[in-house]
Amino acid sequence: VLVEAHVNRDTCIGCGRCVTTSPEVFKMFKRKSEVRGDADYAMANYVKMAAKNCPSKSISVAAEEAEDGDPDSL
Ligand code: SF4
Repeated sequence: VLVEAHVNRDTCIGCGRCVTTSPEVFKMFKRKSEVRGDADYAMANYVKMAAKNCPSKSISVAAEEAEDGDPDSL
């Protein structure tokens, strides 16, 4: 389960790509990306894609294993 994304605003170049890919989680603020206060991680694949495609590698995502190990819960 994807639980959290983080944007390093020191290295973000403000290209906006992550916002296009995952608008539920990222938004632009003062020409750089930041994680929305009401970030919705339901579309986890897009969040991971945004992190992978960030040209300055400014996005990190944290995932939490399901405690009971049930793969259906991921
Ligand atoms: S994709 Fe990366 S560099 Fe571009 S706005 Fe998002 S965090 Fe910043």
